[in-house]
Amino acid sequence: MQINFVDLNKQYNHIKSEVDGAIQRVIKNSSFIGGEEVCSFEEEFARYCDARYCVAVNSGTDALKFICLALGIKEGDEVILPVNTFIATALGVSSIGAIPVFVDCENDTYNIDTEKIEEKITSRTKAIIAVHLYGQPAEMDSVLSIAQRHRLYVIEDACQAHGAFYKTRRVGTFGIASAFSFYPGKNLGAYGDGGGVITNNAGIDEKIKKLREYGQEEKYVHTEMGTNSRLDGLQAAILRIKLKYLDEWNDKRKKVAAFYYESLNGLQINLPETRPERDHVYHLFVIETDKRNELLQYLKQKNIFCGIHYPIPLHYQGVYRGLAYKSGDFPVSELSASRILSLPIYPELEKEEIIYIKNAIDEFALTSVSPLVSIN
Ligand SMILES: *Cc1c(COP(=O)(O)O)cnc(C)c1O
Repeated sequence: MQINFVDLNKQYNHIKSEVDGAIQRVIKNSSFIGGEEVCSFEEEFARYCDARYCVAVNSGTDALKFICLALGIKEGDEVILPVNTFIATALGVSSIGAIPVFVDCENDTYNIDTEKIEEKITSRTKAIIAVHLYGQPAEMDSVLSIAQRHRLYVIEDACQAHGAFYKTRRVGTFGIASAFSFYPGKNLGAYGDGGGVITNNAGIDEKIKKLREYGQEEKYVHTEMGTNSRLDGLQAAILRIKLKYLDEWNDKRKKVAAFYYESLNGLQINLPETRPERDHVYHLFVIETDKRNELLQYLKQKNIFCGIHYPIPLHYQGVYRGLAYKSGDFPVSELSASRILSLPIYPELEKEEIIYIKNAIDEFALTSVSPLVSIN
């Protein structure tokens, strides 16, 4: 048996005729850039998130950058974000000259530790980015009340949490604007790069619609320092099909997770925690053990391919050396970076495959010199 970390081919096989038809339709109409598919996808994804606007762009990274620009965040301004996230969360901020300010994470959900946000706020702070990491929403009530107290914007990085609920609403409209990525491996993924901004704010919608298309007010009339960052017609057509399945696929991810909880329960490893009212859509299933590297290698020999999200916290990245953080500044993220392991999870993962993974982890526990030891 071989179990890949993600398997997009299985998913394609389920929706092959629909996808092939949509691709043919786009080619026939030559609507490669812009056009009906993109407009319809924007409408449908906005409706899905229960938001007024969706602006489709080229990537989640650009979505974050455009949100910062649309909010008037500029060089030297500070934006607070978790140190344990994919680097793009911070790049969206630093690419426009603003300064990312890092905060450690909760030791069981790996989301931003809201108790540690306020001590990072200065007179230059403009916004907080809440990342719904691994598919579980951040603690939005706390983030929103801190932001309100200090008159800051809240931006959501929902690139890993399409469709997840926080309390009674889906992520995407808790902040002033949210960034989504449609990178192929995400819960809602295109067949190439793609991203989107969700907002209820007409000004932000309008501004980003200009920014993504050469800063133009109308054809050949340019009023913003824009760029070219559009979602193409083929990607939009594919995303429209996949959006119809998103809830079903998220439910299947939850079923895979439930089966993992059940089968890995007796083992000495830490399983991911979820908090009440923070619906987890399991973009990733992250376990923790102090024999991480050994387990990773062992599973690889068994043709089970895992990931690490993320092996290097942002303050250790060379590109952020200039921010002058040091070892010990983020103890929870620093420790977990050496212990976390992401097991394969996707809607199409079969029960037999999960059993195969469970058995391999069992064997590892038996054969490794000392047993798997957990923190708790
Ligand atoms: C994927 C991702 C991004 C960036 O999205 P791209 O579409 O790859 O640019 C940003 N933040 C998080 C948390 C992500 O997982």
